[in-house]
Amino acid sequence: EICKKYGNDRARLMDMVREVQESIGHVPREAFGLIASEAKTHRVEVESVVSFYSFLSDKKKGEVVIRLCDDIIDRFQGADAIGDALIKELGIGFGETTADGTITLEKTACIGMSDQAPAMMANDTVVTNLAPEKIPGLVKQLRENPEPQALVTEMGDGNNADPLVQSMVCNNICEAGPVILSDYRKDGGLRKALTQTPEEVIEDIKTSQLRGRGGAGFLTGLKWELTRQAPGPDKFVLCNADEGEPGTFKDRVLLTERVDLVLEGMTVAAYAIGAETGIIYLRGEYSYLRAFLEDKMNQRRVAGLLGNNILGNEGFNFDVRIQMGAGAYVCGEETSLISSCEGTRGDPTDRTPFPVVKGYMVSPTAVNNVESYCCAARIMDKGPGWFSSIGTERSAGTKLLSVCGDCARPGIYEVPFGTKLREVLRLAGAEDVACVCVGGPSGQMVGPAQFELGISYEELSTGGSVMVFSNQRDILEVADAFMEFFVDESCGYCVPCRVGNVLLKNRLERVRKGEGSPADLDYLQRLGESVKFTSRCGLGQTSPNPVLSTLKNFRPVYNALVKDNGHGLNKSFNIMKAVEDASAIAGRRSEIFHA
Ligand code: SF4
Repeated sequence: EICKKYGNDRARLMDMVREVQESIGHVPREAFGLIASEAKTHRVEVESVVSFYSFLSDKKKGEVVIRLCDDIIDRFQGADAIGDALIKELGIGFGETTADGTITLEKTACIGMSDQAPAMMANDTVVTNLAPEKIPGLVKQLRENPEPQALVTEMGDGNNADPLVQSMVCNNICEAGPVILSDYRKDGGLRKALTQTPEEVIEDIKTSQLRGRGGAGFLTGLKWELTRQAPGPDKFVLCNADEGEPGTFKDRVLLTERVDLVLEGMTVAAYAIGAETGIIYLRGEYSYLRAFLEDKMNQRRVAGLLGNNILGNEGFNFDVRIQMGAGAYVCGEETSLISSCEGTRGDPTDRTPFPVVKGYMVSPTAVNNVESYCCAARIMDKGPGWFSSIGTERSAGTKLLSVCGDCARPGIYEVPFGTKLREVLRLAGAEDVACVCVGGPSGQMVGPAQFELGISYEELSTGGSVMVFSNQRDILEVADAFMEFFVDESCGYCVPCRVGNVLLKNRLERVRKGEGSPADLDYLQRLGESVKFTSRCGLGQTSPNPVLSTLKNFRPVYNALVKDNGHGLNKSFNIMKAVEDASAIAGRRSEIFHA
């Protein structure tokens, strides 16, 4: 029945296995063959999808799966104490299920709630601002009524969003800038776009100098032009709402506060490139937004803003569907995201060809971030000159920042590009700041010497994450946690990323323990650069940044930890242990070690 609902379409395999998991709590191995035959694919394909995504499992789990957010912000805000309280109350450890089969306890990397940490998910329900004393009541309620939605009332976290969202989260908009979070003329941009030719729309986006807001900064107008010009009968508009970078939560806010603007921008893009189908790739951790988004899309269909002959424009047909992710950070990378939308593992693929030429279903595809679509709609309404007059010469417009960590006012800040980091910290009420991670774990860890730099593509580039760490924090503990994140999230395809990140983490740990030498710092630098330049996709190409940026900006911290024995040699080096470790990491048997 589930497979039929998706037209037995192999490209909807993700939806099929997700729905099986939602209905019976797991995807039993016995069902792999049946799903495969219904979807006209191979059993191994079903198995590879279920094993790839952390939210899917072939093992039976409890009626409720608690996923405690385990990013560094949550840890510093007390997640470990919450974990201890959950272990005590449930009588199980992480990765286990209670004997009555009611509750499974897990950790997860980041659930997009860093402004309300510590936080956790109970199935699709989010509970924020946790405290150890709240845990007994929460567990009691889940045991009596394994219906996580009821926690909304119980935990009293408040919900300012549309009742359909039922997310219990506050959106914490602290600074509303002129482009996205100010008042706007609903669908004004779309109406204006439809008075122009698609080529003129693309020209406007190019003139505005809009660059991708996900972090890479590619020119949006050029991307749309290349997609329009690429040969192919079908073209696609994809919205990257995967937002998996720890510390980022601005897309969550846009998807609750500015859904119409997101859909309007996607519709403008569809008109410009000639697409009839759009997909919002929504991260699994935001599944509580799905019904809300679908309701909004229905409203737009009724209003003639989605569907056939949009706003009376004969022949302009465009509609959007939601593709749910299932807990894989790498799917934020556009080729992985496309693989996932096609129902397979979220493996990155080689570029070339680029998605603008051969993307979703081997067709020309424009993949843009949620925020980019919002900007595009506003540019069409207010004009490209208005947009490019905001910001700096090479970074036009504003940037939405998700500020979290050690500050008085964590939340969303829309600031013109070029705003100095020091000003952002002042707005957020951050004092005695030792380090700011700009751009999440894949970004840069900077110290006070860099606080005068501006938020921009040319100075401090970020997809939105700004994590603040006071001088009470151990900076290398932060870097270590980020490396742990990358080790967990590497898809394992290429050696530099799969093995290099483990080696980086291990060597960093040695230095942190005071067992390192100056040679270890050179090793970290050289290995980090190698991983960066030899990895296949954006994950591996940015994963050494926590090590490389701390080596650059916090060298005295490292120097204080390493001992120079005068020979450049590390007396604590154990060659047999090193061979054993390397063999284990590479998954190979060492003949030397086993001789
Ligand atoms: Fe996979 Fe990492 Fe290689 Fe990307 S760089 S393909 S995430 S192993």
